[in-house]
Amino acid sequence: MRKRISAALLAAALVAAFWLGYAVQPAQETVGCREEDLAQVTDVSFMPTEIAVDTGEVPKRVCLTFDDGPSKNTPAVLAILQQEDVPATFFVISAENNQQYLPLVQQEMEQGEQIGLHSASHDYKKIYASTDAYWSDIDNLKQELSAYIDVSGIDCLRFPGGSTNTISHRYGGSDIMKTLKVQAEEKGYHAIDWNVCADDAAGGHPSASEVYQNTIEDVEDKRTCVVLMHDTNATTTTVEALPDIIAWFRDQGYTFCTVDDLYV
Ligand SMILES: [Zn+2]
Repeated sequence: MRKRISAALLAAALVAAFWLGYAVQPAQETVGCREEDLAQVTDVSFMPTEIAVDTGEVPKRVCLTFDDGPSKNTPAVLAILQQEDVPATFFVISAENNQQYLPLVQQEMEQGEQIGLHSASHDYKKIYASTDAYWSDIDNLKQELSAYIDVSGIDCLRFPGGSTNTISHRYGGSDIMKTLKVQAEEKGYHAIDWNVCADDAAGGHPSASEVYQNTIEDVEDKRTCVVLMHDTNATTTTVEALPDIIAWFRDQGYTFCTVDDLYV
């Protein structure tokens, strides 16, 4: 009898343990850039900041860039860009969570937006395991995109987390980003970071007015701004803030350009 009760208790304990284990499993991480993974000090060597500030010779320019899309929010972002008649650059991914939105890259390109490469999986552990792993992920992304657009002209990329991120060190060693940047250049890519951050991928889901404030506060006296924003299912408030952000830059005398325009 006692044996039978023990067996029943053991079975119940096993079932409970199973469900408890299931319940306390960490929630599946959303794919994309999380604020805490982003490089704190980005590489801004793409622009002659000092000369521009000192002499005022370089016109004020702003590149709006959107990472981690396409997403359910992409059509709304595209509609605003079209309405405001400003170009933008999309650093796209082809992860599991955005497969269904991937055909939207065609609309992005048809509308004259620039498409840059971000990542296929956006899984830091995988892509930064080695330089080979990184380039194989980029190949996967290009392969997936080629179903919708001509990828042969894409010459721009943004490293997940930024080119000076430190999260990659955990997986690929402390020199991996330096090596990847050299290799990107050798392969003919412009690898670009940002110098203004909307902080819209933060865990607390900032409101539209916070996204707006974060952006304009980061501009300071920069005459060339590359604004990092996100185009994900979670960043709906970025879409809400976008018209005001565009209006603010316009009022400050900035002209809008794509990342490619910076290299002309
Ligand atoms: Zn990202």
